[in-house]
Order: sequence, then C-alpha cells, then structure tokens
Amino acid sequence: MKYRRILLKLSGEALQNREKGLSIDPEILASISRQFKELIKEGAEIAVVVGGGNIFRGLAGEKGGTDRTTGDSMGMLATCINALALQSALENAGVETRVQTAISMPAVAEPFIRRKAMRHLEKGRVVIFGAGTGNPYFTTDSAAALRASEINADVLMKATKVDGIYTADPVVDPNAVRYDKVSYAEALNKQLKIMDAAAFSLCMENDIPIVVFNFFKDGEILRVFRGEDAGTQVSH
Ligand code: UDP
Repeated sequence: MKYRRILLKLSGEALQNREKGLSIDPEILASISRQFKELIKEGAEIAVVVGGGNIFRGLAGEKGGTDRTTGDSMGMLATCINALALQSALENAGVETRVQTAISMPAVAEPFIRRKAMRHLEKGRVVIFGAGTGNPYFTTDSAAALRASEINADVLMKATKVDGIYTADPVVDPNAVRYDKVSYAEALNKQLKIMDAAAFSLCMENDIPIVVFNFFKDGEILRVFRGEDAGTQVSH
C-alpha cells in the first residue's frame, strides 16, 4: 500500500451524464460507491472534495448578470448538492459518511471542523467536504489542496477523463507518452496544466503529491492507491 489517507478531488462534471441529460447520474454514484468500498477494504481513509460545475459556476453567473461573489456563493451551494447526493449513494451502499461544509448549514451537514474530520477518517468514515473553501474567487481545486494539507493527506488524487499527464496531446501526437512521475518544478517549467496555480502551489509548499488519473477507467483508483502503474504522480 502506497498511501493511506487520500483526498479525492471530484469535479461536478464527473457526476454528470450529458447523454442522458442528468446533472447527477445515480449509476455513476453507484459506481463511485462500489469503488470506495474496495478502497476502504484495502485500508484507505477517504476524504472527498466535490466540485459544482455540473450545476453552477460563478463565472457563468457573471455572464448571466449575477455579480461574481453571488455567483460564487451559488457555485459553492452547488457543491453541497453534489456532496449530499454522494453521501446518500454511499450510505445506501453501506458506507458510513459525514458531510462537512465550509459554509455553515447545520440543518443539513456538519460545519467544517478539522479535528472532527480527522476523527471521522480514523473511524473509517468517508468525509465529504462541501462548499469549497467557503470563499469566493477560489475553486474546488484550491479547496482540495487546502483540505488535503489540513488533514495531512498522503496524496491528492485528481479525478480526470485522461490516463495522466502526457509529453504531448495524445490525441494529436501518436508518439506522446504518459509520465509516470513529474516533479513540481518540471510541471511548472513545462507549463503542464494540472490544477489552478493557487491549488498547485499549496500542494507544492506542503509537499502533498498530486496524482492525475482516469476516474472513468474501472479499478484505476485502486491501482493508483496501490502504487501500481497508473496515472501520473507530481511530487518533489
Ligand atoms: N467556488 C468558490 N469558492 C470555492 C470553491 C468553489 O467560489 O472555494 C465556486 C466557484 O464559483 C466555482 C463553483 O463554486 O465556479 C464550482 O466549483 P468548481 O468550478 O471548482 O467545480 P468543478 O469544476 O470542480 O466542478
């Protein structure tokens, strides 16, 4: 086992099924629950930061006439909708969970309390962090980097649609190869787009490795967790 405590960053789009016109697809949630159960069986402590892009993004609100901070509040609330949906699916699958939000809403979830979050993880509960950082002008990538640092996560796993970071765009260049490992410095030099700059520098400063992996390949998260040849790890 390579890691124990993981912080998984799931974008809102990871829950979405455009073909079926669903913002949140119950089948995707069920598949996530199955994979989490396997991870837990192998000893993982799982914390999740969910995005909200499947429902609302602050910038989109700006274009529609909502001011940025209000739009960002709407985006943060959207992440809470996703957090509750994920919680529900996990609990249905028999996984104990807690949702903690950065914007207080005690009627639906716990507020974010670091020590409590750590205690839940130690007890084997999946902790889902909603409402991002609780501040406008940030992203859930930054929230993921922040929470990973706060809970002393061994790794930040960034769920994507691609197998990892490539030397070139694999769609355009047939000779492109996937990096197994890249250093933070190399990622910066080569301007590899992994997370937004604030999130990336927080991970680098706090020495949290980032693994970019294909969330849609069945079993891939387990392979990353075991330290097998999957995804790309960014570290010192
Ligand atoms: N957001 C914010 N502060 C945060 C995290 C998120 O204001 O700390 C808002 C922002 O408007 C963002 C939206 O919530 O567009 C949804 O988050 P994000 O775009 O990161 O979701 P993802 O792309 O991962 O689905």
